[in-house]
Amino acid sequence: MSREKVILRRVDRYDPAAVAGVVREGIEELGLAPRLKGRVTIKPNVVFAHHKLAPAAYTRAEFLEGLVTALKDKASGGMDITVAERCGSAIPTTRMFRRAGYYRLKKKLGFKLEAIEEAKKVKVALSRGTLHHQIRTARSIVERDFLVYAPKLKTNVLVLGPTTALKLNIGLLLDRERMWNHNERLDEKIVDLLEVGTPDFIATDGVETCIGGNQLTGEGKHLGAVILAAHPLAHDVVCSHIFNLDPAGVGYLKLAAERGYGSLRLGDIDLQGDIALDELQRRTRGWNYWFLRADELPGNIKALCGEPYCRGGCHGVFLDWIYMIKDRKPRLWNNLPEWTVVAGKYKGDVSAKRVWLLGTCTEVEGKISARRKIRIRGCPPKHKTLVLWMFLKAGILNPMFRLDLVFDGYVFLFFSWLRRLVRGRL
Ligand code: SF4
Repeated sequence: MSREKVILRRVDRYDPAAVAGVVREGIEELGLAPRLKGRVTIKPNVVFAHHKLAPAAYTRAEFLEGLVTALKDKASGGMDITVAERCGSAIPTTRMFRRAGYYRLKKKLGFKLEAIEEAKKVKVALSRGTLHHQIRTARSIVERDFLVYAPKLKTNVLVLGPTTALKLNIGLLLDRERMWNHNERLDEKIVDLLEVGTPDFIATDGVETCIGGNQLTGEGKHLGAVILAAHPLAHDVVCSHIFNLDPAGVGYLKLAAERGYGSLRLGDIDLQGDIALDELQRRTRGWNYWFLRADELPGNIKALCGEPYCRGGCHGVFLDWIYMIKDRKPRLWNNLPEWTVVAGKYKGDVSAKRVWLLGTCTEVEGKISARRKIRIRGCPPKHKTLVLWMFLKAGILNPMFRLDLVFDGYVFLFFSWLRRLVRGRL
């Protein structure tokens, strides 16, 4: 059996010329140049971009510039490049493109920038899906000659692992499909999407990583690497090892291997490049990813976990919400009011000053004694909903609650919806 190649390259700073150089060599090394022509779609990670709150959460514009330059240099025929992405739910992607500096780059390099929710869409049947049997996504993702993924190297508390090539596929989905079964079945969702989202080439921005809880507001840590591959599972296995995580312990990677998408064994991967995996592992040793269960969280807000334990749903979303505070408002994190959060069906009595019931299915099969009780519905609730309702009902001002983001999430969302309506792309 031939071993899948994964190339680790040293790139110490966000220099587009340096990125272009290693990507060019990677394309050659992987033998991809002859296929590089026609309709080329690049999917970066722009789940969220904000100069103050999320400076490390997205594929940087300098990295994208290097990647696009290298693709053009290596093209074996005429090429039309589209950069397509759907950012986090309920925010217009066009706003995140602007915050990430992609419009400036579009002018400079002349590619098409496409917000997936506003794009022409097609339905795709998934014959191997166990949860999704059909999805709707941008035509540019499906009807292309060459698909490039450009993830940001990050960790994510919703999957307790890296969020790189496979996880990038969640951004193919439109909001309703994206939130559907975004619960304890999240791993299945991710693996189902591999059927439509199998990139031909992956170039990962690991110059700076984003770790430590929330995948939007997490800490940017310098790593100084670019990871190049043509096989998504082999690529993600190596990314897992870079973070000193066992890929067999990452649910969606294990499931992808079980479904025949490749091997989890490092021995089955042909590692190449000018920086050793060992060296990258040394750099990340001791990093804290905050991979806790919700009921293990220290601090004034305690969680009572009922069934099911939805790592990708309410339990994970709660951690995500509180990690935003940890990451960006550490003083508030140390002085949060006492709340007891219940998520899922909880067996037992709950006695607390204030109780927050999180999620549509949440119930307490016992007695609740509390001075205050609030409920936030959703399966799971969106981040935006949590941020808003925890401010209105509990007075907790999450760092995401900012005027510029309120405009993005409500005013610009309305304009985005209007554009889709006018163009018949709802
Ligand atoms: S509402 Fe229930 S099933 Fe849905 S994500 Fe929350 S805990 Fe899970």
